[in-house]
Amino acid sequence: MHLRFRPMFGLIFAAVLSLGTTGAAQTAPAPIRITADLTDAPRKIIHAQMTIPVSPGPLTLLYAKWIPGEHMPDGPADNLAGLFITANGQQLSWVRDDVNMYAIRVTVPEGVTQLDVKDDFLATAAATGFSAGASTSANLALLSWNELVLYPAGHANDSDIDVQPSVILPPGWQYGTALTKTGGDALHVDFGTVSLEQLIDSPLLTGRYFLEVPLAPEIAPKHFLDVAADGPEDLKLTPETINAYSNLVRETGALYQSRHYESYHFLVTASDQVAHFGLEHHQSSDDRVPEKTFVDDNLLLLSADLLPHEFTHSWNGKYRRPAGLATGNYEDPMKGNLLWVYEGLTNYLGNVLAARSKIETAAQYRDYLASDAAMLDYRPGRTWRDLQDTATAAQLLYETSDQWDNWRRSTDYYAEGDLVWLDVDTTIRKLTKDKKSLNDFLAAFEGLGGNTLPKVVPYAFDDVVSGLNNVVAYDWAAFLKERLTSKSPHAPMGGIENGGYKLVYTDQPNEITQARITSTGTTPEWWSIGIDVTSDGHIEDVLVGSPADKAKLGPAMQIVAVNGRQFSGQLLSDAIRDAKGNSAPIELIVVNTGVYKVIGIDYHDGLRYPHLERVDGTPDRLDDILKPMTETAKGS
Ligand SMILES: [Zn+2]
Repeated sequence: MHLRFRPMFGLIFAAVLSLGTTGAAQTAPAPIRITADLTDAPRKIIHAQMTIPVSPGPLTLLYAKWIPGEHMPDGPADNLAGLFITANGQQLSWVRDDVNMYAIRVTVPEGVTQLDVKDDFLATAAATGFSAGASTSANLALLSWNELVLYPAGHANDSDIDVQPSVILPPGWQYGTALTKTGGDALHVDFGTVSLEQLIDSPLLTGRYFLEVPLAPEIAPKHFLDVAADGPEDLKLTPETINAYSNLVRETGALYQSRHYESYHFLVTASDQVAHFGLEHHQSSDDRVPEKTFVDDNLLLLSADLLPHEFTHSWNGKYRRPAGLATGNYEDPMKGNLLWVYEGLTNYLGNVLAARSKIETAAQYRDYLASDAAMLDYRPGRTWRDLQDTATAAQLLYETSDQWDNWRRSTDYYAEGDLVWLDVDTTIRKLTKDKKSLNDFLAAFEGLGGNTLPKVVPYAFDDVVSGLNNVVAYDWAAFLKERLTSKSPHAPMGGIENGGYKLVYTDQPNEITQARITSTGTTPEWWSIGIDVTSDGHIEDVLVGSPADKAKLGPAMQIVAVNGRQFSGQLLSDAIRDAKGNSAPIELIVVNTGVYKVIGIDYHDGLRYPHLERVDGTPDRLDDILKPMTETAKGS
């Protein structure tokens, strides 16, 4: 999974969980059939009709609870409505389990072999959250099958259940999905039978304004960029953008030396009406971005790593998966303790691949890394909560407030993954005199078994350690544990230093910080007085220990005046700049829940924004890491 915007802020498992790609088993029971009717999606309601093969007697039907990639029990059962279960035309009564809200109990009458089930998903969520967040507009819809499907309990592994899906689309709408069309027509499309796991892993994007572009067409298996947008003008992707995403496909082949899918669809929703995030699947990704992303350079830059991140998850997260997250079904609790690999390594690789593919420049990557490192270096919560606990507690942390976020810490294993895995990468390069790198680890770890169809190959901490030791012998267990359990107030900067750079602060925002200021209107004075402020003066958060903290500012207070003049972000930045070298405090008038107060901030070190600066005379490993592997291979 990927958050809304890039943040500023020894057991060897032999078991392989097959996804059961088709209903080819010898004595497979008849599949569940489900038809999702999306014709009312613009009115925020999706209808479904299912037939479920059953035997007479007590039956429990389940609704998916733990959603893969979301790492928490957030299946949207609250928005399930209009549930009618009938047998031979007779309505059956059902009862919800009074402990497990995701279980529905019904008694199947004698002689009945099939239940007819109708339900609706109320797609009414606000444009926040993840896959159950807002998913529809007047002109598009993203269907996540877990919102509709009910299935019989009693299967340890959801790949044991077969489902044959169909959809009914609004007239004139096109669609993209990793499912395979087997029949129907333009409005009523039938897909081939898949396992329940593969169904839930295969969302469908549909829309009135729709674009499908083949990427890197010379490569098999096939890759497609599918975009649905709120207006036709939002689909004007430049040839450079499309070429960069084709580069991404090529670069992943060079890096992972394998592919684990039949074909791959990037399902991109460009809309301001939906939640913004990314969710990974084996053969597709659900990528939801602001409406103008492909026609606005700042928005495109702020989403630069989204598609590389979600695509990387097809290897790192879906194919190779921490044992604690490879539960095989939607009911068993997931354990997030290795999310610093699942998400942290993916975050590092997503950003590196964005640069290698030329979705962003190397300079933009360095600006991103500088912002990331500086956010983590001004993060006092690291003195009480270690990185490991942010992963272990992931299911608590995805939907927390931004207020006092620097003291709580949040899903830091994403951003800190950039630093930890850059540290691993540059340490391998240093130890091997630049003959080997993390690329060698990835080719073996993610490419295990070569090209395969989708399946899950679980791993434990010791497998990561032994994989690194296979590249170069080192005490990797101690290396990783030190970074996972550190209570240092400072972020690990070894990767940046080994990469030939250092983190510095100047009075000019870097390009990423500037893109964020332009796109969101936020004024980031985090590294000077210790606050981020919205365009209307609301304080998003206050850095613990900063001048703003000492002056008793708090999150959600609104700054209404700066040195006696009505607030603007520019005025605040100007005041910080002008206070440099003076002794007079910066005077703010703030309103806190209706109470006004004058506050003086005693700060005189000027504006401070993070940058990476090259350290002359050191190896430029970071620059090497960002070079396209496809071009390096050609040139050598
Ligand atoms: Zn992710």
